Amino acid sequence: MNASIHRTQNPDANENRQLPPVFASAHPQTEVQQQLLQLAAGAVFSRAEWTALLRQRQPADSEFLFPLSEALRQAHYGINVYIRGLIEFTNDCKGDCLYCGIRRSNHSAKRYRLTKQQILDCCLAGYKLGFRTFVLQGGENPAADESLTRLVLQIKQRFPDCALTLSAGERPEAVYRRWFEAGADRYLLRHETADPDHYAMLHPPQQTWQRRMACLHSLKDIGYQVGCGFMVGSPGQTDEHLAADLAFLQEFRPHMVGIGPFIPHKDTPLRSYPAGTLELTLFLLGTIRLLLPQVLLPATTALGTIHPQGRELGIRAGANVIMPNLSPADVRGNYMLYDNKLHTGCEAAEHLNDLRRRLNAIGCDIAVCRGDSLM
Ligand code: SF4
Repeated sequence: MNASIHRTQNPDANENRQLPPVFASAHPQTEVQQQLLQLAAGAVFSRAEWTALLRQRQPADSEFLFPLSEALRQAHYGINVYIRGLIEFTNDCKGDCLYCGIRRSNHSAKRYRLTKQQILDCCLAGYKLGFRTFVLQGGENPAADESLTRLVLQIKQRFPDCALTLSAGERPEAVYRRWFEAGADRYLLRHETADPDHYAMLHPPQQTWQRRMACLHSLKDIGYQVGCGFMVGSPGQTDEHLAADLAFLQEFRPHMVGIGPFIPHKDTPLRSYPAGTLELTLFLLGTIRLLLPQVLLPATTALGTIHPQGRELGIRAGANVIMPNLSPADVRGNYMLYDNKLHTGCEAAEHLNDLRRRLNAIGCDIAVCRGDSLM
């Protein structure tokens, strides 16, 4: 056992670390299980300690972890799973991320951009279904910055009781600020990897890790509820890289963390790399719940894509957010970030009753509310 783990505590350890009773009755059998309990109590790990935890984990450690991470989710969020209506408003992107199916160099992608009216219609349909958060997600396109500002204003005027999340990539701070002042509440920008060299393996030279980090800090300074995150099992990823990711989360303290397995896309340079695993994604979801007990943690579409029960398993591991697709049905197939991305069944907003049934079966329910972060 590494006693040095006790030396530093998270700043919120005292006020937020009221652990549910299941923690008191947990009997750790391995070093990893000891570390997980210390993490839940607020310990701050070094990168070496994170690396050891990841490297030494065994299936029994996941079995130990999930009841704890699930209990922690319940302690903070009860049975509520927050739904976000995802509107993929354009797949037009100036970015060229090497893993992404809608990267600008993929000339096979069929490009589209929804009109303002189509987007407002999606919001109205979602509102009637019970969505109180809309997520506008699209590729990076500087030419559309001002039309997005006007759209944010209109959505917030029409749906004042709803939260609006944007996910439109890296933009100048002044643009982020205009969107925030227009009413946007949250911003999703995955950091992808906390290691600059690994970032350079996944992106072209003009897209830098330093810029990505600067964007994330700007968003937080402006006042957004910020979501970062990364792909699990991305090409070239090592335990040390994941350790850097977890250390970054511990320090940056985002309001949301989106992680899902890497899944290759056939028209990208990284097409031949294997997908990330369900096992590691679930272990990381559970670990992140212990690390940031109040964080908003989606069970992502990618998780549902690699396993038919991926979403439920993610919730059982500690996730508490699902983002069904509200985009018009005829464009959903064009927002192919990776191969075989789900966009029907429980991924589709119109099948909310199916999703509710599946969540009820694991003791959860859909919450009709904005679902703001408690952090
Ligand atoms: S990951 Fe985002 S920024 Fe990168 S190419 Fe895809 S849509 Fe564009």
